[in-house]
Amino acid sequence: MSTAPKGDQAIQATQLTGRVPEMTYAGVLSFLRRKYSKDIAGADVVVSGVPYDGSVSHRSGCRLGPQAIRAASVQLAELKAFPFGTDPFEQLGVVDFGDCYLTPQQQSSIPAAIEEHARNIIAQNAKMLTLGGDHFISYPLIKAHAEKYGPVALIQFDAHSDTWDVTPDHLDHGTMFTRGVDDGVIDAKHSIQIGIRTHNDDPHGIEILTAPWVHRNGVDDAITSILQRVGDRPAYISFDIDCLDPAFAPGTGTPVVGGLATWQALEILRGLGSLNLIGMDVVEVSPAYDHSEITAIAAATVAHDWLCLMAHKKALE
Ligand code: MN
Ligand code: MN
Repeated sequence: MSTAPKGDQAIQATQLTGRVPEMTYAGVLSFLRRKYSKDIAGADVVVSGVPYDGSVSHRSGCRLGPQAIRAASVQLAELKAFPFGTDPFEQLGVVDFGDCYLTPQQQSSIPAAIEEHARNIIAQNAKMLTLGGDHFISYPLIKAHAEKYGPVALIQFDAHSDTWDVTPDHLDHGTMFTRGVDDGVIDAKHSIQIGIRTHNDDPHGIEILTAPWVHRNGVDDAITSILQRVGDRPAYISFDIDCLDPAFAPGTGTPVVGGLATWQALEILRGLGSLNLIGMDVVEVSPAYDHSEITAIAAATVAHDWLCLMAHKKALE
């Protein structure tokens, strides 16, 4: 048990593991009340925000996603994790690194700034949990991961394939996975998309489980398909919150009806713990369109549950 004073663990924690009581509704906000630090020595996972939304095709606003997800995470920091029944921070050391510093007025500087941010963290042998930001940010994040792990198997929860045709020099949250496949940083043969419900003539070799497929076949078949597709490859999970139906995630820039319920996405994610998980991002949360924090709470829970999978892995080591 930590000997740190109670409250404000974001600035008072003396270690990266453990939990100390907080006023749930108050205090300095960090993700799941983890310690804020730029010193990540000894961290198993580094949480950071990438507050960028310059690549959207429709509504903007997800630059405010990281702070909304942090604020929504407070309730999840109180009790042992459900349905795991464990405290993920008993063994897993997690730091909140704060946000990647960007100059949004200088669009051309954005990809390199995010890539460098990721490269620094990955070089210190920590896994990354990144809070977006629009979905473009996944491209520089994956590039940095591929430098260390080789081409990644992408597990993409999304309403959109994001593999539409690339326009040179455009930063676009709907084409970056085409770039990733073309660049060889995404291993399309072992990649899979879940929850898709928009048309694209060319899936670029990535397997697709549409939202109607998940509705008809169910969570267990989706898990089986993902595990088979990814195998033992380094698996990067990219969770676009618009994978969820607008009823469950109204606070996003390009909502599409007919999506997954929050419970379906969580149940699928919780079934992926046996994979070689190397990183995750949760993107496209746009708080101005949210109601009662529905979307932000869903995003925080998805990120939290990935940490629980990582904690379970560490416990088995
Ligand atoms: Mn999307
Ligand atoms: Mn997307």
